[in-house]
Amino acid sequence: MVLAELGGRITCAIRKMNNVTIIDEKSLNECLNEITRALLQSDVSFPLVKNMQTNIKNIVNLQDLAVGHNKRKIIEQAIFSELCKMLDPGKPVFNPKKTKPSVVMFVGLQGSGKTTTCTKYAYHHQKKGFKPALVCADTFRAGAFDQLKQNATKAKIPFYGSYTESDPVKIAVEGVDRFKKENCDLIIVDTSGRHKQEASLFEEMRQVAEATKPDLVIFVMDSSIGQAAFDQAQAFKQSVSVGAVIITKMDGHAKGGGALSAVAATKSPIIFIGTGEHMDEFEVFEAKPFVSRLLG
Ligand code: GDP
Repeated sequence: MVLAELGGRITCAIRKMNNVTIIDEKSLNECLNEITRALLQSDVSFPLVKNMQTNIKNIVNLQDLAVGHNKRKIIEQAIFSELCKMLDPGKPVFNPKKTKPSVVMFVGLQGSGKTTTCTKYAYHHQKKGFKPALVCADTFRAGAFDQLKQNATKAKIPFYGSYTESDPVKIAVEGVDRFKKENCDLIIVDTSGRHKQEASLFEEMRQVAEATKPDLVIFVMDSSIGQAAFDQAQAFKQSVSVGAVIITKMDGHAKGGGALSAVAATKSPIIFIGTGEHMDEFEVFEAKPFVSRLLG
């Protein structure tokens, strides 16, 4: 199953209940089983899905609902609120402060939108009065430094990188040190990606993290990656201590079902979504509109 269908399948399961005359235990179970299957096939973890099912059954106590209650509405609302809850891992996210320099490291596969998102994140904080800086520790992709440089220049954000140095750890450390000396309060380290999950990439991420000691590691994920979401997010989480997720390309067709898997795999909240190629096409993540879209 393609993840983009997750929302569609859940919506379909809810709509099926509109075709039954009486909503009883059987039709509710059928609906919840279909949602459970869809979530499990989207690699959302079993305990999470099981928990959701139990919670919905507790909220929707069919026997206790008096005649006249709109059972469909109550079930729909319970499913909606449980999906919102699944997007909240209940863990506070690190927030940079202007009083102390913070290092934020970005990780993700090549093409996920990592470099673009680094600048968007920097620009967002610059507008809030931060003094951000960008470090290009991606020595793998030809043109990565030029891209970061171009974005940074457009946003008037200081940047650091090298055309000749091939050791990403060295560049990352030099960049972080330099910007700490220059009193930047938000130092953003962009790292390499690969087309697929590879041991060498994760080793590199581990080394960059060890050397720069980031306050926050952000995992960037393309909303359209489909079923690979859980594995990909988990692979990064196992190498570096991911503390937040950003989902990109939400302006495309993808409904973002993979977000549930990314949260489950990293046990970290989604903090922003990317909604276009431009610097300001970036929004603070909010669960309710996200779930509405997922089910829409
Ligand atoms: P990286 O390889 O992960 O660093 O990815 P890039 O930042 O180079 O982005 C890859 C492509 O995705 C570029 O063409 C970006 O303009 C595009 N991109 C990044 N974020 C978004 C987004 O939120 N929406 C859209 N439509 N495109 C995006």
